[in-house]
Amino acid sequence: MLYIGNHTTSSKGYAQMARQMIANGGNTFAFFTRNPRGGKAKAIDRKDVENYRALAEEHHFGKIVAHAPYTMNACAAKEDLRVFARETMADDLMRMEMIPGNYYNFHPGSHVGQGTSEGILKIAEILNAVLTEEQTTTVLLETMAGKGSEVGKTFEELRDIMNLVEKKHKLGVCFDTCHVWDGGYDIVNDLDGVLGTFDSIIGLSNLKAVHLNDSLNGLGSHKDRHAKIGEGMIGMEALVNVIRHPALEGIPFILETPNDDEGWTKEIAALRKAYEEMKP
Ligand code: FE
Ligand code: FE
Ligand code: ZN
Repeated sequence: MLYIGNHTTSSKGYAQMARQMIANGGNTFAFFTRNPRGGKAKAIDRKDVENYRALAEEHHFGKIVAHAPYTMNACAAKEDLRVFARETMADDLMRMEMIPGNYYNFHPGSHVGQGTSEGILKIAEILNAVLTEEQTTTVLLETMAGKGSEVGKTFEELRDIMNLVEKKHKLGVCFDTCHVWDGGYDIVNDLDGVLGTFDSIIGLSNLKAVHLNDSLNGLGSHKDRHAKIGEGMIGMEALVNVIRHPALEGIPFILETPNDDEGWTKEIAALRKAYEEMKP
């Protein structure tokens, strides 16, 4: 089963997001838990959650992937910013229990001159403070492009964070194809090699979701500029190989391409067609 959808821009509740995704041909989606720049989360509406659950069941949705605000920096140098990151993550995880058993993905952070190892320690400290044994949400660290002082641009950095976290079983990785490519992993010419490297360092069982994006820039460019599927340097063929890869079977693929719903509908249809064509 191919679970594919886009990061939805609609924000009027879970049921509306699911309806938009069904209209786009999707069966999973991503969404911001609150304004991407931070700020207050929406009030929880139980009726909306019930409606969402019914739609997700009827349309065989896979797990959905909540995205933390991208301004959240768990390894900021300033303490008040780390407190904001910790409180935001704790609050988001509590609210995620309204839709149990899904994913919550976040950018590990930018060390802003403190150095990667200090960044790794600070990120792990926040994860140790917010993860609970009771939570049913798996928290995903996103692979980063390595723009500026981003932590998580190599599989080793993600592993080092995970190794410092007590409740490792609550963690996983979200593999962003644009970021990994920009980070210097050649998924175009050697997808098997990249996934093999991921397996030996982090373990493929920890790869829980994919952000499926093309990239405007070349291998190792550390730029993080997403392109539409087939309109960047990664290209359609390599991205189809990603969704077809047996090691990634059954996980959610989320488009974060610069599109509107019409564009995402076309991308989802094209990718579904390519996925189906592989079947014997
Ligand atoms: Fe992201
Ligand atoms: Fe991403
Ligand atoms: Zn990105």
